[in-house]
Amino acid sequence: MSLAARNLHVTIGDRRLLADIDLTFQQGKVTALVGPNGAGKSTLLSCLAGLRRPESGAVWLDERPLDAIPIEERARRLAVLPQGAEIHWNVFVRSLVELGRAPWRGARGKVKDIGPVESAMRRVDVAHLADREALTLSGGERGRTLMARALAVEACWLLADEPLAGLDPLHQLTALAALRGEAANGTGVLLVIHDLSLAAQWADEVIVLHEGRVVAEGPPEKVLTLSLLRDVYGVEAYIGRAPGGALLVQPLAPALRG
Ligand code: ADP
Ligand code: MG
Repeated sequence: MSLAARNLHVTIGDRRLLADIDLTFQQGKVTALVGPNGAGKSTLLSCLAGLRRPESGAVWLDERPLDAIPIEERARRLAVLPQGAEIHWNVFVRSLVELGRAPWRGARGKVKDIGPVESAMRRVDVAHLADREALTLSGGERGRTLMARALAVEACWLLADEPLAGLDPLHQLTALAALRGEAANGTGVLLVIHDLSLAAQWADEVIVLHEGRVVAEGPPEKVLTLSLLRDVYGVEAYIGRAPGGALLVQPLAPALRG
């Protein structure tokens, strides 16, 4: 089972957003997609999710072009957590998370399978918010609720665009643990993330996107080097190991470099 981008190109007007994207993602792995603002990460995720059609090239899901897979089937196989998703109507948190089950029952069907809903809410620590109205949530609580909805789908693929945005340190780790748990169950997880230490510690593979192109891919310790951070982000950094061995990648302001 694989999800693959084959020779994707995306342009808007005369702007090239993605070029020559050839990537294959594996189930059971966490892949971190990193790169500066505007690099094309969200555009790539939209293409992989089938929400944006590339000018040329195609996305393949399990040896079939995504275009050839009926939309209902896609919704069951690919769960998507868009960047900065908003909640526009005042449903209860539990009802919102239950929407994750809609691909399995049709949006108007009854919710019979509450197991995945309860489990998803527990894993990102929103179970205690189940009876709250969604519009009263804090930014981080909202982010976790939307992540619970994506987890509740129990899809083979989970594409999460900056799922840690707005989360406190503990809940960042909680969210990452939930994503790792998905991968341990065989889900292919692709996440866009800016914290390079967390990417290094939690991802099996890191893909670096820069100006619409893949400039590096591979295991975190191979990809996240001082020269790459300089070239791609224009930052100096400290790269080292925590006492327990975890890779640390900390961008540093010039005055702090010592
Ligand atoms: P990232 O997620 O890596 O920050 P995006 O994929 O959202 O970047 O965007 C890539 C680039 O494409 C950015 O420079 C963004 O401004 C531009 N872009 C995205 N959508 C449009 C659009 N509809 N019209 C013009 N430019 C766009
Ligand atoms: Mg983005």
